[in-house]
Amino acid sequence: MRYSALSLAWNALTGHRGWRPAWRDADPKDEYDIVIVGGGGHGLATAYYLAKEHGLRRVAVLEKSWIGSGNVGRNTTIVRSNYLLPENIRFYEFSMKLWERLEQDLNYNAMVSQRGVLNLYHSDAQRDAFARRGNAMRLGGVDAELLDREAVRRLYPFLDFDHARFPIQGGLLQRRGGTVRHDAVAWGYARGASDRGVDIVQNCEVTGIIVEGGRAAGVETTRGRIRAKKIGLAVAGNTSRLGEMAGLRLPIESHVLQAFVTEAVKPLIDGVITFGAGHFYVSQSDKGGLVFGGDLDGYGSYAARGNLPTVEDVCEGGMALMPMIGRLRILRSWGGIVDMSMDGSPIIDRTPVDGLYLNGGWCYGGFKATPASGWCFAHLLAKGEPHPAAAGFRLDRFATGHLLDEKGQGATPNLH
Ligand SMILES: Cc1cc2nc3c(=O)[nH]c(=O)nc-3n(C[C@H](O)[C@H](O)[C@H](O)COP(=O)(O)OP(=O)(O)OC[C@H]3O[C@@H](n4cnc5c(N)ncnc54)[C@H](O)[C@@H]3O)c2cc1C
Repeated sequence: MRYSALSLAWNALTGHRGWRPAWRDADPKDEYDIVIVGGGGHGLATAYYLAKEHGLRRVAVLEKSWIGSGNVGRNTTIVRSNYLLPENIRFYEFSMKLWERLEQDLNYNAMVSQRGVLNLYHSDAQRDAFARRGNAMRLGGVDAELLDREAVRRLYPFLDFDHARFPIQGGLLQRRGGTVRHDAVAWGYARGASDRGVDIVQNCEVTGIIVEGGRAAGVETTRGRIRAKKIGLAVAGNTSRLGEMAGLRLPIESHVLQAFVTEAVKPLIDGVITFGAGHFYVSQSDKGGLVFGGDLDGYGSYAARGNLPTVEDVCEGGMALMPMIGRLRILRSWGGIVDMSMDGSPIIDRTPVDGLYLNGGWCYGGFKATPASGWCFAHLLAKGEPHPAAAGFRLDRFATGHLLDEKGQGATPNLH
């Protein structure tokens, strides 16, 4: 069923009895050409592009819970392509371009809002680093503007410019960055994939990977054994667990990342702001709540819940940036399990097990990657070769030393 002004008017006039479920809740079949493990944004986008761009229909997405229950429905919805390294610029800008036409492509309102992402700087050294990143972005065809303190003040006069412990000197602005409604992305891709014949199987946990003669041949699940010619893993925070099922030890750690929403207030922040002297980022949802987050909890965990010291740390960042935020009450907070790679960049590649492919290592920034990740993973699964936009995201870079250390932090996942 296509969504349009006409279908909305028709259903409004007929008591809204004509709407149909957006996707089929499929039962698993015994065999598929391709099985994607993980019904998050990346798994669903991969299935959608496999069907749409490569005409592959014997595809299933297996999700242990309900779709959207993972990080795709837990993130702070920020999308941007303000990276430094060429491999990352190329990939994330490709993603940004896909975001820009996503709603028309999916015929689904994902509330793509290019409201601008502003990274604040608070020292000369940070300004120089941001100028360098902005120049790299522009060389890569990405929009970037370096703002001075007065230009930032004109945009956000309520920030603490005059008495701050870390005075704001300026910021790097990407106007095309912004936010997208996270769970609408999962629903939109699920609907598009299901319409094209993909089976989306919920409540189906993969408990084992069947390897025969060194080749992946299927998966064991809580709903029975499913054979497949190819298997793609897109399980975010559970990547190391799934890898282990195939005998792989992956360069990925799982960490908790928390997010917070305050009570609703009148429109205040019309873009995304990140604090450069600590870790704090904030935007305002269409319902009026301030949506914010900060650092990882700092130790490995598979538990999707956070700890109070990090709550305090994130709120301190907020208070340092805009002290009036202290008057607001936090309504909700939650945690997600993020798949931190050793260099902070992702992996879209084959694995040493034939027929088993890996999409992971998204750290705390994989939501913005969703369209490009799905597009490139689908390309890899369908053609057996990496897509040029993701050619740098090889698994063997951790063995050869060709790391994509965007932040220059070294192999310390909790710092990326
Ligand atoms: C609090 C928070 C804030 C974030 N903010 C941002 C942001 O502002 N911008 C940004 O770009 N990124 C952000 N991220 C990161 C982003 O959300 C993730 O990188 C991205 O969503 C991961 O990809 P996914 O959507 O496919 O993951 P998920 O939605 O987690 O999908 C993986 C799925 O695999 C399923 N699964 C796991 N194991 C199995 C199994 N054995 N069998 C079957 N299914 C299984 C899980 O249930 C899950 O649904 C944030 C993350 C968190 C936690």
